[in-house]
Amino acid sequence: MSAISLEPPIPARASNANPHVRSPPAPPPTPVAVVHGDGIGPEIMAATLDVLSEAGAGIVPHSIDLGAGVYAAGNTAGITEEAWDSVRRTRVILKAPVTTPSGGGYKSLNVTLRKSLGLYANVRPCASYAPFVPTLHPNMDVVIVRENEEDLYAGIEHRQTDEVYQCLKLITRPGCERIVRHAFEYARSHGRRKVTCMVKDNIMKMTDGLFHAVFEEIGAEYPDIERERYIIDIGAARLATRPERFDVIVTLNLYGDILSDIAAELAGSVGLAGSANVGEHAAMFEAIHGSAPDLAGKGVANPSGLLLSAVMMLVHIRQAQVAESVHNAWLRTLEDGIHTVDVAGARTVRRVGTAEFARAVIDRLGDRPRRLRPVIYHERPAAPAVPAPPSYARAPAARKALVGVDVFVHEAGVAPDLLAERLRQRVAPGLRLQMITNRGVKVWPHGLPETFCTDHWRCRFVAAQAEAEIGHEAIVELLARLTRAGVDVIKTETLCTFDGERGYALGQGQ
Ligand code: NAD
Repeated sequence: MSAISLEPPIPARASNANPHVRSPPAPPPTPVAVVHGDGIGPEIMAATLDVLSEAGAGIVPHSIDLGAGVYAAGNTAGITEEAWDSVRRTRVILKAPVTTPSGGGYKSLNVTLRKSLGLYANVRPCASYAPFVPTLHPNMDVVIVRENEEDLYAGIEHRQTDEVYQCLKLITRPGCERIVRHAFEYARSHGRRKVTCMVKDNIMKMTDGLFHAVFEEIGAEYPDIERERYIIDIGAARLATRPERFDVIVTLNLYGDILSDIAAELAGSVGLAGSANVGEHAAMFEAIHGSAPDLAGKGVANPSGLLLSAVMMLVHIRQAQVAESVHNAWLRTLEDGIHTVDVAGARTVRRVGTAEFARAVIDRLGDRPRRLRPVIYHERPAAPAVPAPPSYARAPAARKALVGVDVFVHEAGVAPDLLAERLRQRVAPGLRLQMITNRGVKVWPHGLPETFCTDHWRCRFVAAQAEAEIGHEAIVELLARLTRAGVDVIKTETLCTFDGERGYALGQGQ
């Protein structure tokens, strides 16, 4: 069976049961790659496509095979070549959740899609719909703009010693610039007043520090938008207790992943939130929740997250009127007390399943909410949906100087003073051992006996003469001497300055 089936376009609806439906001008049909997904995926996708069809969305769905079936057929990436072709051709994807098999060897399809297609911005609006959906935070209306490609999600992990594993956190200046600019552009184009940056730059001064510095730098270009910065721990706590004080939040990949689930649950249900993954070349729209295997096949899942993702897709493909009609009908459905079980509460008039909820939305196409604020979408200009980031033309440092090297050593059960003595006997000419740390804590010179040490040592060598540069030959000579002496070197990191600015963190305790 072919992985791709080409289906007839969803036709714009002619006259229909609901006489109040505004008839939007027939938009040119847009090809959309549709992933039906796993678990509750096929049920919520069917409901969503029903609503889109009845609302007159001009799309041509191309169903593509991704996820569990493809993994089961032995494809560890979970996506076939034909599916890639379809995705690259349409450049617009509407995706239901897929199940990533647990256990080693399988790549996360979501991470693969986002990174391969350069979908660098993950935009997740989370609003409450009080009093119709039970929530402790009736005035919440937050948009989380999450960096989508970098951070610990690079998946560069190593076991270095018997006791120590590492995961590299990679943060790039172009990556920070793109996501921060996206957040401010989003705020400006959506009438938002404030962008909050959440980082942990009191600890990760270089990586999170770069994100914060870029936030201040680019934010200054948007004097009409207020900007503030929170350390992520207190920021997350404030979001959980007083979400109404936030507007747009921009943050790194891992923090954004966690914050957006918290925000969706605060708003009422993880089943309510949709998201857009956007890049320069493509965009993917999906609910933020997973495939909910506990609900699969029962016909009870809430299709709202996927439906609101589809609304974001309609705006993206310049079908704003259809988007507005669907979104307002959906708000009216909530107001009328037609609820799936996950959002049911005191205002529920009728508990419905997935398909029945979609039917209720269809019946209300053309209606607007009476108490909740109706949405208004303007047709966006034909320009790209995502403001193209300025081409990256930052000049490299005029002078990069090599001033030392961190040599990481695997050795169990050794006292720091003894290790230092052994290393100092083998040091190459022109170098000196400056310090040794264990898990980032300085243990030589002047370590404390109470410090717990593992079998993983970071040994810093610098020029014997203060402030002097060293050559790569000195590092090679050092490694040769250490290796000959039986020292188990597991990796090195060079210490450089860039135009005189230190490009490495000082060891703790210095
Ligand atoms: P989940 O989001 O699927 O479920 C968490 C809880 O929320 C469950 O109790 C579930 O019943 C409920 N829930 C989720 N969606 C709902 C909806 N639409 N209506 C009502 N209730 C809903 O998270 P999980 O159980 O951790 O993950 C299940 C699978 O989904 C895993 O294989 C995971 O890898 C995958 N996943 C996929 C995506 C994606 O494709 N974007 C995202 C997250 C998780």
